[in-house]
Amino acid sequence: MKIAVLAGDGIGPEITAQALRVLQALGSDGLRIETEAAPVGGAGYDASGDPLPEATLKLCEQSDAILFGAVGGPRYDTLPRPQRPEQGLLRLRKHFDLFANLRPAIVYPELAHASSLKNEVVAGLDLLILRELTSDIYFGQPRGVRVNEQGEREGFDTMRYTEGEIRRIAHSAFQAARKRSRKVCSVDKANVLETTQFWRDVVTEVHKEYADVELTHMYVDNAAMQLVRNPRQFDVIVTGNMFGDILSDEASMLTGSIGMLPSASLNARNFGMYEPIHGSAPDIAGKNLANPLATILSLAMLLRYSLDQEAAAARIEAAVRKVLAQGFRTADIAEPGKQTVGTVAMGDAVLAAL
Ligand code: NAD
Repeated sequence: MKIAVLAGDGIGPEITAQALRVLQALGSDGLRIETEAAPVGGAGYDASGDPLPEATLKLCEQSDAILFGAVGGPRYDTLPRPQRPEQGLLRLRKHFDLFANLRPAIVYPELAHASSLKNEVVAGLDLLILRELTSDIYFGQPRGVRVNEQGEREGFDTMRYTEGEIRRIAHSAFQAARKRSRKVCSVDKANVLETTQFWRDVVTEVHKEYADVELTHMYVDNAAMQLVRNPRQFDVIVTGNMFGDILSDEASMLTGSIGMLPSASLNARNFGMYEPIHGSAPDIAGKNLANPLATILSLAMLLRYSLDQEAAAARIEAAVRKVLAQGFRTADIAEPGKQTVGTVAMGDAVLAAL
């Protein structure tokens, strides 16, 4: 098994270094995984004038999964669009057809104070949002601004989903639920939008292959409300690109800590790219201040979803829970007046807990 490690820019190299230490520690217990690093984003541009250098793409093609840090920084903000760091990320998503975006939102009991919701509403929250990433109204044609028959300007977009696109994300959702509490809630707006009535019909058909998983449906307006009213009712939420964009950000804020949240983007072969949801944080880069836990938890997701190493993934997650319970905090998750540790010391604590 081989992982391509694309650390990227800003805090990217610091946080991926800690995740690699964790992987190495698992290696000494018999998990044999090769890793190889390559530049991406601004680092790719610096190395070869391209945010996704040819050699980096080749390495990813020869690997079973990608561990991604973060890209971007003020130095690159004035480059022409094709050379901007985020193009590296977008091109990787497109090249590997990474249509399933998995975003867990977990509230560790010790960090429940960081949420803007009451402790009793969010403590122990553990939900997974699966967002379709490559279709829907964001990509549908035709789109544009035109002058209509009444001579008035109007803007328009097209919401569109093919059966195949819905089927594959539905399969991903049911399979992900099998690794969790076996409950899927499909979110749509079937009362108003034809496309999403079709979505509901297809998800219901696919569900016939997963009798061991419970399926419910919910309208998106209700889902937005339920996420702040009683988020613990959910296990896996599956939804289209636009609703997922909005709901996944809402869900991540339930946790209140950007440095804690991992994510995955998978294709139909379970090849995937794994990354923290935060960016390259240029304001704290190189200062040993970044929280490496989102990246370490991204590695756990990688082991679970692309390499099928559930035991190793669970061990990492347990180690993270333990360091939080022991009181280790980086600055971003600190309680006022309490002592904090740096990036490397947090990595040390996870290793010790492992
Ligand atoms: P950001 O997520 O990098 O930072 C937002 C705030 O959160 C900053 O104050 C930062 O210090 C803090 N923060 C982020 N991650 C942290 C961590 N692990 N530990 C502690 N604190 C952390 O978002 P931004 O400031 O809007 O963007 C900075 C750069 O990152 C931009 O160039 C942007 O384009 C890029 N970006 C990249 C990605 C990606 O690579 N996937 C995602 C978002 C933004």
